[in-house]
Amino acid sequence: MHELAVCQALISQVRDIALERGATGVSGIRVALGPLSGVEPALLQSAYTLARAGTLASDAALTIVVPPLRVRCRQCGAESQARPNRLLCPACGSHDTRVLSGDEMILESLSLTFSGAVSHV
Ligand SMILES: [Zn+2]
Repeated sequence: MHELAVCQALISQVRDIALERGATGVSGIRVALGPLSGVEPALLQSAYTLARAGTLASDAALTIVVPPLRVRCRQCGAESQARPNRLLCPACGSHDTRVLSGDEMILESLSLTFSGAVSHV
């Protein structure tokens, strides 16, 4: 299952960041999932609930945002939004476009918890 592998990589990335900062847990993860990333948000969400079990992120909610797909036209240079199944330039109608963003999954932010932060002497 592709999404499970994606989640395991994500959680391992999250764990590295959390450990680096000295956090004791993770309460939230926010990722931007490009429409051309090849990952379905719903499948990612359900794979995540399996993948997070027993990890530092076991209580962390996953928020998935899908950013707009942007292309740049090689013919007229226009940058515009496009749909994943229709990568053409709205300015001149050319299909000769390059994807600027929309094919990646990016870890946008994390909510970390620190046990030391709530201790009182
Ligand atoms: Zn164009």
